[in-house]
Amino acid sequence: MQITIIGAGIIGLTSAYYLIKEGHEVTIIEKNEGTDNCSFGNAGYISPSHFIPLASPGIVAQGLKWMLSSSSPFYIKPRLDTSLVRWGLKFYTKANENTVAQNAPHLNNILQLSRNLMIDLDLELNHGFQLETKGCLMLYKTEKTGHHEAELAHEALKYGMEATVLSQAEVQAMESEVKVDVLGGVYFPIDCHLHPVRMMETMKAKILEMGATILYGHEVKDFEFENKKASQVITDKGVVKTEHIVVAVGSWLEIISRKLGIDLLLQPGKGYSITYGKRTNNLSFPSILVDDRVAMTPLGSELRVGGTMELCGINHEINMNRVKPIVQAANSYYPDINLEMPTFKKVWSGLRPCSPDGLPYIGNSPHHENVTVAGGHAMIGISLAAGTGLLVKQLVQQEKTEIPLHAFRLER
Ligand SMILES: Cc1cc2nc3c(=O)[nH]c(=O)nc-3n(C[C@H](O)[C@H](O)[C@H](O)COP(=O)(O)OP(=O)(O)OC[C@H]3O[C@@H](n4cnc5c(N)ncnc54)[C@H](O)[C@@H]3O)c2cc1C
Repeated sequence: MQITIIGAGIIGLTSAYYLIKEGHEVTIIEKNEGTDNCSFGNAGYISPSHFIPLASPGIVAQGLKWMLSSSSPFYIKPRLDTSLVRWGLKFYTKANENTVAQNAPHLNNILQLSRNLMIDLDLELNHGFQLETKGCLMLYKTEKTGHHEAELAHEALKYGMEATVLSQAEVQAMESEVKVDVLGGVYFPIDCHLHPVRMMETMKAKILEMGATILYGHEVKDFEFENKKASQVITDKGVVKTEHIVVAVGSWLEIISRKLGIDLLLQPGKGYSITYGKRTNNLSFPSILVDDRVAMTPLGSELRVGGTMELCGINHEINMNRVKPIVQAANSYYPDINLEMPTFKKVWSGLRPCSPDGLPYIGNSPHHENVTVAGGHAMIGISLAAGTGLLVKQLVQQEKTEIPLHAFRLER
């Protein structure tokens, strides 16, 4: 088939990879130059440890508390936007124990599937993602958080995931080059991390070598339909005829889906990262500074530090007031890494595509026979990339899918 994928983020690229492998002819349409999107500046974690969806008990109360502080890791820009209101209401109704109990097993299925495929893909592509399977540390400074993290570790065991609760001294013993100032931590050996830029460059090179066409600087505006099929993709530079469409547009998913008659809820969740180059001392393990919602990733001699979640629409503006606490938290947990406050130009921002229940949307359109959608991966789009790509291929070919997809259906 001639398949058109919209969006050259990691979800578009992995979908292309699995589809071309089956002999399909793939064209990717990307509105930008393919050198930056949410898939480039993220923390690079492959995290089976994130099996609890974002919408979970306690998160609403915590979010409201954070909203009152200009330096907190969470912010919603107040605005009259029906889409945001609908999203907020759905998030509120989903943030409970029953929904988490229902959704966590499905999230675990796709996280495990994807972790294994991501490792295979990295090996197949000559270790081009620089993927490391050494695990991740969840670090905390308060007893309350320690208690919560220990409960999560216990929950992880139910899914067969090893998770070790560590004392301050045990955390320090794992870090030879830097001091660690924490109350304790939990170690998830199953987690991995990779270099997001290397991953994107490697995937792009691979699919081009396999025969993909990528139309950069083409923005998809609309579609033409014939009977129950989408027959043409209309871009600002012309029309592309197609036999099947895969929509993988990250934070633009709600807008593009609407043009296809699909009503799904999605909000961009802005985050920042700063990459510090050529360090003399670096972390041995990636870590999440849980009390401050900051992610730290050693990438060779570089160190990437990221955080914040701002629901402020499609908007890449950088607010240095919210960058400062990220750097402060890093220096507080690792007192001798001495990270400088970056200049404005050194801060990257990206938009996480957030669904209100914390699960991605992966499914065929209920309205058109030849449209597949993959998006809404929020904070775990890298973790779920390879699994999603494989599932997209199976949906396009109408095969039995590797895992049940009902929980990820589009209109829910
Ligand atoms: C600070 C931060 C840290 C993160 N850390 C992690 C992590 O450690 N692990 C993890 O798993 N995830 C992480 N994430 C989340 C992860 O980065 C995202 O889930 C993932 O990159 C989403 O990929 P995507 O392909 O869906 O979207 P994107 O990468 O945003 O790609 C979508 C593409 O679609 C294109 N597009 C949109 N509309 C159109 C149109 N009309 N026409 C043509 N093209 C269009 C866009 O230009 C874009 O290039 C993090 C995110 C942030 C912000």
